[in-house]
Amino acid sequence: AKAEGRSTFRFFTAQMQQRSAARLKLEAELRRALDKRELQLYYQPQCNMQGQLVGVEALLRWMHPELGVVSPAEFIPLAEESGLIVPIGMWVLQEAIGQMREWRERGIRVPAVAVNLSALQFRQPQLVEQVAQLLHEAALPAGCLELELTESVVLEDPDDALGLMERLHNLGVGLAIDDFGTGYSSLNYLRRFPVDRLKIDRSFVQDLEQGRGIAIVRAIVSLARSLGFVTIAEGVETTAQLEQLRRLHCDQVQGFLFARPMAVIQLEAWLQRHHVV
Ligand code: C2E
Ligand code: CA
Ligand code: CA
Ligand code: CA
Repeated sequence: AKAEGRSTFRFFTAQMQQRSAARLKLEAELRRALDKRELQLYYQPQCNMQGQLVGVEALLRWMHPELGVVSPAEFIPLAEESGLIVPIGMWVLQEAIGQMREWRERGIRVPAVAVNLSALQFRQPQLVEQVAQLLHEAALPAGCLELELTESVVLEDPDDALGLMERLHNLGVGLAIDDFGTGYSSLNYLRRFPVDRLKIDRSFVQDLEQGRGIAIVRAIVSLARSLGFVTIAEGVETTAQLEQLRRLHCDQVQGFLFARPMAVIQLEAWLQRHHVV
């Protein structure tokens, strides 16, 4: 049994070494991905219940030369652990704001772009100044930009987060709580924080087929309403979910039912089909 234990141990370490070698390789490639222009932003439309476009969410894609499109679920954690998320996140902000400026100049009316912020990025001391600078350079009103933060990012250091969120909010930038209901769920922070939108997590939208799912979404919407937040449901895939969300007075929706995240050229075609341009 002892020998067996030892060989199991050897097996695991070999596997771990292999995994970490693969990770290191991917991390090195990610480090160069920015320079090699392999990162790209996709945009997913967000609509109100009348089907009008209210904004788009910017979602990162890595066009890897051998692996093809790598999902952010795979490389964002790697980028966070290695700190690469800071330069990558800055690039995302620049790119999204630059895109908004271009659309504006071409008369394409995309009301706002939502950008995801990770914890490390949020804690950069220069973040607020950088955001203000980017908006200023693009001559865009701050309301064109919304920053999405998860509950865990906010609650990691609530006092610090509150100060930062107030400074961002004073600029006029919108703030959304992403994946709402999946984190620590301290409802107490909600009434103190300058939040504009709550994003109802996809897991609750999927559960709308069951009574409990309905009860949870109803509770989230009513909480949001009483605190003055707009609600947006993410991951809406079926008309049954949409109808249920309408009955529950959810304000906005985002999901494959309307559109997938798309490269700029596809998004522009979508906007044309939906008479946005
Ligand atoms: P998220 O912010 O919760 O983004 C929503 C995810 O749900 C996206 O996955 C989107 O493609 C997907 N989605 C949208 N509608 C539907 C639907 O109807 N059904 C299903 N099944 N999925 C839907 P994606 O693009 O793979 O991104 C995954 C996560 O990676 C994001 O989750 C976000 O946490 C992170 N991420 C993406 N881009 C960035 C970024 O620029 N910066 C940071 N820090 N994180 C990012
Ligand atoms: Ca998001
Ligand atoms: Ca989300
Ligand atoms: Ca998520």
